[in-house]
Amino acid sequence: MAPNNLKPTGTLFENDEDVPAENIPVTEYKKTVKSHLSWPMIIVYAYFHIVAVYGIYLIFTSAKILTSLSVVVLYELGILGITAGVHRLWAHRAYKAKWQLRLLLTILQTLAFQDPIIDWARDHRVHHKFNETDADPYNARRGFFFSHIGWMFFRKHPEVKAKGKGIDFSDLYADPFLRYQKKYYYYLMTIVCFVLPTYMPMYLWNETFYNSFTINILRYILTLNSTLAVNSVAHRWGSKPYDKSLNPSENLTMSLLTLGEGWHNYHHAFPWDYKTAELGKYSTNLTTAFIDLMAKIGWAYDLKSTSDEMIKKRVQRTGDGSHELWGWGDKDQSKEEMNEAVIKHAKEQ
Ligand SMILES: [Zn+2]
Ligand SMILES: [Zn+2]
Repeated sequence: MAPNNLKPTGTLFENDEDVPAENIPVTEYKKTVKSHLSWPMIIVYAYFHIVAVYGIYLIFTSAKILTSLSVVVLYELGILGITAGVHRLWAHRAYKAKWQLRLLLTILQTLAFQDPIIDWARDHRVHHKFNETDADPYNARRGFFFSHIGWMFFRKHPEVKAKGKGIDFSDLYADPFLRYQKKYYYYLMTIVCFVLPTYMPMYLWNETFYNSFTINILRYILTLNSTLAVNSVAHRWGSKPYDKSLNPSENLTMSLLTLGEGWHNYHHAFPWDYKTAELGKYSTNLTTAFIDLMAKIGWAYDLKSTSDEMIKKRVQRTGDGSHELWGWGDKDQSKEEMNEAVIKHAKEQ
């Protein structure tokens, strides 16, 4: 039987106000890890996933086409709230934003229901700082399932809070939008993530409540799983051109699903870069296109990036050799490629 202070709290991402995890010895945590499971959370999310699967069926059988299209639009908007908002702006401070953009991104992040920006950004900073150790909230070394969604159902490892204490979060609490969002989170989230997206299709194009409600749950679960897959899939599969000692990898599929967040080896090597990728091609990184657009109208500024020289040095020092070549004589260029090129030239003469 676990002591009382080891009981899971049942919140999605544990808050600071919860029982302080650092009081639990690590050995105690390991011994009783299974008793840290939050069954209410498991039941709620199992229910959401079953409803989401049924939502797919409804899309093909009885939903109006506009309802299906609204899933795509709201999915992308929710993802943008995560990527441009809580991830690049607030967790990494990769750029600055005027109040208009901060307000917009706060609303979009609420649409995605992944807990308040302050909590999300706090956990994410700890994830980067202590990547794939016990102090990483989504520690990928605890297995694929844990790093994907399992971590939401367990009490946090004591190391997360113990080590996380050394990280500065004061800037997050200094933003009034974030304080307000955290204070009224459960009201705001219920309205923005569930009530409005269910009500709008009923009001605007006479969708049934049943279809609208079910398909909105599908939209939420898709957004959630895409975001979670950055911690699981992109920490497991892909190349490591920037730092082969890191498990985070370059993953095109994840980039397409998350508007550019799958370039995860680069992102862990240079977490301050607002592009979260070296090249920032808009086709696989629509979040960068969005931030650039916001910079054009003056809502985003002080965009931080990485110099070509710094990237080149890092690739040469720690890359796995899969990086695109810099040009002739790059250390990653194979002898074969060099010979081929010379021979071709000689033949043409
Ligand atoms: Zn990050
Ligand atoms: Zn990561």
